[in-house]
Amino acid sequence: MRDDAPNSWESRADAHSLYGFTDLPTIHDRGAVVLTHGQGPYVFDVHGRRYFDANSGLWNMVAGFDHPGLIAAAQAQYARFPGYHAFFGRMSDQTVMLSEKLIEVSPFDRGRVFYTNSGSEANDTMVKALWFMHAAEGNPQRRKILTRVNAYHGVTAVSASMTGKPYNAAFGLPLPGFLHLGCPHYWRFGRPGESEAEFTTRLGRELEATIIKEGADTIAGFFAEPVMGAGGVIPPSAGYFQTIAPILRKYGIPLISDEVICGFGRTGSTWGCESYGFMPDAIISSKNITAGFFPMGAVILGPELSDRIQAASELFEEFPHGFTASGHPVGCAIALKAIDVVMNEGLIDNVRALTPRFEAGLARLAEHPNIGEWRGKGLMGALEAVQDKETKTPFPGHLSVSERIANTCTDHGLICRPLGQSIVLCPPFITTPAQIDEMFEKLEAALKKVFTEVG
Ligand SMILES: *Cc1c(COP(=O)(O)O)cnc(C)c1O
Repeated sequence: MRDDAPNSWESRADAHSLYGFTDLPTIHDRGAVVLTHGQGPYVFDVHGRRYFDANSGLWNMVAGFDHPGLIAAAQAQYARFPGYHAFFGRMSDQTVMLSEKLIEVSPFDRGRVFYTNSGSEANDTMVKALWFMHAAEGNPQRRKILTRVNAYHGVTAVSASMTGKPYNAAFGLPLPGFLHLGCPHYWRFGRPGESEAEFTTRLGRELEATIIKEGADTIAGFFAEPVMGAGGVIPPSAGYFQTIAPILRKYGIPLISDEVICGFGRTGSTWGCESYGFMPDAIISSKNITAGFFPMGAVILGPELSDRIQAASELFEEFPHGFTASGHPVGCAIALKAIDVVMNEGLIDNVRALTPRFEAGLARLAEHPNIGEWRGKGLMGALEAVQDKETKTPFPGHLSVSERIANTCTDHGLICRPLGQSIVLCPPFITTPAQIDEMFEKLEAALKKVFTEVG
């Protein structure tokens, strides 16, 4: 709890930190949780309290907070070559090796990789690359970007415009030309009497009608997360990607899979597009790519976009884009190690092994009359609180039910995230079955307490 002394960590955090995505009344009341270190899936605060981080940091610390192999890879690369860029035809050997590795583990048989420092920048980069490519091909009017309501693609001006969340209005976003289609969440958006198959068909029709109305030759690309993450862990309705992919192909619109959360194992496969059986034209990666040990994003282009963007670059004599720290050698060395750890040290296997237990825990808690739905894929899941299960009526916003549940969990050593009316869980891949059980026990106690309070 909050220590009000002027020299407390809580007061010092308040004095000089502009909090992002933080409920300020709550933080004024409770104080920031200031952390010092981690161990396995646990983090420790300045008061010595231990928390199981059921959100893997921000989805990304999948190998835990003290993986010795990742720390050693970072230390070794810092000692060898601590920084370089990837401009003007120069790049580190680690960058070359990581691009080879990413294409090898991607669903593509060939392609090219471009690096950024974040997922937002990777989405921005992909949008710019599409604009650049279409212009070079004589279609400069192909600029509109299609995404979905509740999508999360980042916070920079372009990626925020792609994000389908109401808070972007506070910034006067989206920019013109960023269109949001329906969210494929059947439980919430299915109409009375509409089957899931009919719902999916309706979303396909909406996509095609939008393309025809806007004009296919004005659309640069379609971006989608295989499972929506920050939208509240929303797996697509059955057959969704099988319905939309052929429509996009018919109109020559590239399909970009934003795998910033799903990539590298979260859904139980290397890629979310594998879990859902579709082939994108490019993949956006970040978060798990370094297991959270370094800020990095990557645009992984499949064969066709790789050829077309390369051709556009040759026409223009360069691809005039890049970040000072793109392809940073330490980040690349860490990513090479992280990919090895996730794929070869049994982490994806553990995601698969834990999934039935994780789903059973979610399903059990969803029996509560104030949980409307559980949903998830692999080791990402959500429970959605409702005032009335029958009518799916949410609790009034002013009761802050999900925040209160999450705060109660924090008080008992469990970090989980309120997202809208949902509680989101995405534990690290190194979690043990006993830790999964403990996570659900703590969450259950918090649910019972808060639901009793709000009656
Ligand atoms: C987190 C996230 C991003 C943005 O990544 P940042 O590194 O925070 O900029 C983009 N897309 C998805 C799907 C994400 O979850």
